[in-house]
Amino acid sequence: MSAARPSLRVDEAIAAASLLLPGTSPRLDAELLLAHILDCSRTALFTHPENRLDKAQQARYRALIERRRHGEPLAYLVGTREFWSLQLDVSPAVLVPRPETETLVEAAIELLQPGMMVVDAGTGTGAIALALRSEQDAGRVLATDISHAALAIAHGNARRLDLDVTFVCADWLGVFVAQTLDLVVSNPPYIVAADPHLETDGVAHEPRLALVGGGTDGLDAIRKLVVDAHRCLRSGGWFATEHGYDQAETVRNLLRDSRFTEVHSRTDLAGLERVTLGRRT
Ligand code: GLN
Repeated sequence: MSAARPSLRVDEAIAAASLLLPGTSPRLDAELLLAHILDCSRTALFTHPENRLDKAQQARYRALIERRRHGEPLAYLVGTREFWSLQLDVSPAVLVPRPETETLVEAAIELLQPGMMVVDAGTGTGAIALALRSEQDAGRVLATDISHAALAIAHGNARRLDLDVTFVCADWLGVFVAQTLDLVVSNPPYIVAADPHLETDGVAHEPRLALVGGGTDGLDAIRKLVVDAHRCLRSGGWFATEHGYDQAETVRNLLRDSRFTEVHSRTDLAGLERVTLGRRT
């Protein structure tokens, strides 16, 4: 009888997997996937590199490495992503929260005041709404999405984090009455359908609905939002939206065309204009 193949050590498994993975952080991804399989921290992997994976763990690790190798985002494989220090559940029904969206949260927090009616339009995981709620307990935070699957994820996140956000199934701001809101924030889709970025690692597996904005410039969703936000906001209320790194000037003009004032953009950590704001007169 031949001897059974020896089981893989943790450090060997990570080294082998890192060689196979795409993207900018193959080793980190290999570590995070193994920590997920072994239900331990990354640190535990480093303190016990000599630990061995059993047969079932090896098979599960191989399966996840294979999926990551074919471009599935790490966040979908482990089921979570951190945003604004909140651990959020994610699934292929929602866009993976991105660090640049924290720029929008920062801008919105400066505008938050107790008692405000705040709406996050097209909430996905609930990331923006939940981040704002975690910073301001008074007033109401509502969030819309047209996707029931997305709302189920967002609602689950709110419950787990014990944050009071009301989720509504709606097409952007369609359900709200004129002049009732104080702050409207959104990270809508804004990518042009033909943009090769949509086929890149990770992005290719995310919902098109959350990425592609419509129109030749990708800005149809933002156009609709700007008009609708103007209708729903009270006098003095603010609108803030994320957009592509090269769309700030066009979005500022859209806001001015809809009679918003105090229109300006904010840069993300990479120094790119990522967020544009305007105030309803
Ligand atoms: N910033 C994201 C990306 O470049 C897109 C997010 C969005 O469309 N709202 O992949």
